[in-house]
Amino acid sequence: MAIKEFDVFVIGTGTAGKTVAYDCAADGMKVAIADNREFGGTCAQRGCDPKKVLVGITEAMQLSENLKGKGIVSVPKIDWTALQKFKASFTDAVPAFTEKKLKEAGIEMYHQSPKFLAQNTLSVEGKTVKAKKIVIATGNKSMELKIPGREHLKISDDFLEMAKLPESIIFVGAGYIGMEFAHIAARCGAQVTIVEFGSRPLSPFEADIVTHLTEASEKLGIEFIFNAKVSKVEKLQKDFRVSFQKKGKTETVDAQMVFNTAGRVPSIDELDLEKGNVSFQKEGVTVNEFLQNTSNKNVYACGDVSASGALALTPTSSQEARIVSLNIRNGNHTKMDFPPIPSVVFTIPQIASIGLTEEEAAKKGYDFVVEYKNVPKWFNAKRINSATYAYKTLVDKKRNIVLGAHIIAPEAGEMINLFVLIMCGKLTCGNIKEMIFAYPTWGNDIKGMV
Ligand SMILES: Cc1cc2nc3c(=O)[nH]c(=O)nc-3n(C[C@H](O)[C@H](O)[C@H](O)COP(=O)(O)OP(=O)(O)OC[C@H]3O[C@@H](n4cnc5c(N)ncnc54)[C@H](O)[C@@H]3O)c2cc1C
Repeated sequence: MAIKEFDVFVIGTGTAGKTVAYDCAADGMKVAIADNREFGGTCAQRGCDPKKVLVGITEAMQLSENLKGKGIVSVPKIDWTALQKFKASFTDAVPAFTEKKLKEAGIEMYHQSPKFLAQNTLSVEGKTVKAKKIVIATGNKSMELKIPGREHLKISDDFLEMAKLPESIIFVGAGYIGMEFAHIAARCGAQVTIVEFGSRPLSPFEADIVTHLTEASEKLGIEFIFNAKVSKVEKLQKDFRVSFQKKGKTETVDAQMVFNTAGRVPSIDELDLEKGNVSFQKEGVTVNEFLQNTSNKNVYACGDVSASGALALTPTSSQEARIVSLNIRNGNHTKMDFPPIPSVVFTIPQIASIGLTEEEAAKKGYDFVVEYKNVPKWFNAKRINSATYAYKTLVDKKRNIVLGAHIIAPEAGEMINLFVLIMCGKLTCGNIKEMIFAYPTWGNDIKGMV
């Protein structure tokens, strides 16, 4: 059988892969795309979107809880089955819709993991295909914990698909996924325990801000076990038992379900990268400033799977895809040059961050002013009786520009977008003070933060 030849072969149909495929097809190139799961990627089916649908319901509950006795008589109860049905109304249509769009764009589809046979050659669905450029956009997957009983651990995909909410849940790992899911589960009525290796949750985020979230989470009933190294998971008659080492001793905790939220790693195991002379490292496919593989120049990588150094988020994945598609179509002219990237933890309240933490700014030798304030008495928080509202901003002394902003607030995720404009637009604090914002809004509060 004749070997099919393409201009571009994309592996992965998530945010990154689809973007490159559509751009190249629109430019008249012959494009193919492959995925070994339902087409459409993580964000829309197993990540950001379904998660935010679940969070939305708990926001309604939390607002009622805050205002109970202040006009609200009772807090609404969750119907988990109806909530899952509502969530499915967003996710179920994604694969068919994605395939329809790819077909309309004239992109050939394969439903299997391709394997490299040589630099420009892949094997997929029993066929050998060749492509001038191959794009790896296979994203991340849950990191496997190499401990006895790991087969009992569920992952984030399972959490989002749970038909019934268990009475008790253990999350192994207090990163952003563990924290967000713990908040959803606790508000929906589960008894939640988080076992964390470090001494606090959310290690990349500003410690002073995270302290407020730890307190708020404990008030919600979440139990934290810090400095604990999980060593074993066992199935009991009804529950599961998680053993962990803490201060040299073995302790245990039981729950009906245990989730591994200890981190995500690049999805590259099935690709036979060595056969394609594609270099890779712990963080993913090794890339240069053009997001081109350092050993096989016909390969590019974008999104979570590239070891670009950017945060593994949806907006960074689409930005990387844009760079890859430009470089494939026009030659290597577009370099990775990331502006400050905001990141949000969708707990209640939310934590949102951009730029440098205080520790990072000090390490980099900046001369800066820190403003760290606890402001639950500011009107926006008081109006909805939210007990937690704090911020930390770092301002460069000489240039009077923001180096970093870290907020915990019910709407921190929206507020941080204003800091994106401030930092990317290189506005000074003086510029911000002169502006007029609508009142009373959370956005207006940023004038008081700089
Ligand atoms: C629970 C959760 C919540 C999240 N919440 C947020 C959030 O709120 N905001 C945010 O910005 N980001 C969030 N993220 C991260 C975000 O989803 C990712 O950064 C984004 O989806 C990455 O896009 P991508 O295209 O690089 O990879 P993906 O969307 O993961 O796409 C990769 C595709 O490649 C396929 N694939 C994998 N291996 C192979 C193979 N060998 N062969 C063929 N196909 C393969 C996969 O099936 C998948 O379809 C969340 C992630 C999770 C898991």
